[in-house]
Amino acid sequence: MKLEVKDEGQMQALGGQLARAASAGIVFLHGELGAGKTTLVRGLLRSLGHEGAVKSPTYTLVEHYQLAGREIYHFDLYRLSDPEELDYIGARDYFDGRSLCLIEWPERGHGELPAPDLLINIDYRRDGRTVELIPKTPLGEALARAAAHHTSL
Ligand code: ADP
Ligand code: MG
Repeated sequence: MKLEVKDEGQMQALGGQLARAASAGIVFLHGELGAGKTTLVRGLLRSLGHEGAVKSPTYTLVEHYQLAGREIYHFDLYRLSDPEELDYIGARDYFDGRSLCLIEWPERGHGELPAPDLLINIDYRRDGRTVELIPKTPLGEALARAAAHHTSL
């Protein structure tokens, strides 16, 4: 499924829509630097009540949030030099099936990440972005369906 996302506000709204559909799951976010991965995550977190800043955890690798009774882990693996580093930070404990894990640059964690429920590919367009949703599990399908109900797009 492909969605046209015209601006930053729409990308945040899409994140909010995804937040409504799942309180757990593994989501891989693919796209070049500046594509809008963090923007989508920011929208998701804000829709659940987060009020502070949301930066990509480029240096810390992962940021933990507890919102609306959920455990959310936002990863940015851009600077991961070896997938085994994920082991050192205890990431395996986060992939417990009860938390929502949003992972930027999942390709850098190859071999140390669980299979995703949903792949999100963000591409540049002359005017905005396209967001492709590729579900891999029934949970991922529920997430993709929720995004399709994204009526404000
Ligand atoms: P990434 O995490 O993929 O590196 P960011 O979300 O940090 O990217 O940055 C995306 C940038 O692109 C932001 O400055 C945002 O304002 C801008 N932008 C422009 N159009 C869009 C759009 N349609 N969706 C998301 N971001 C957009
Ligand atoms: Mg980012």
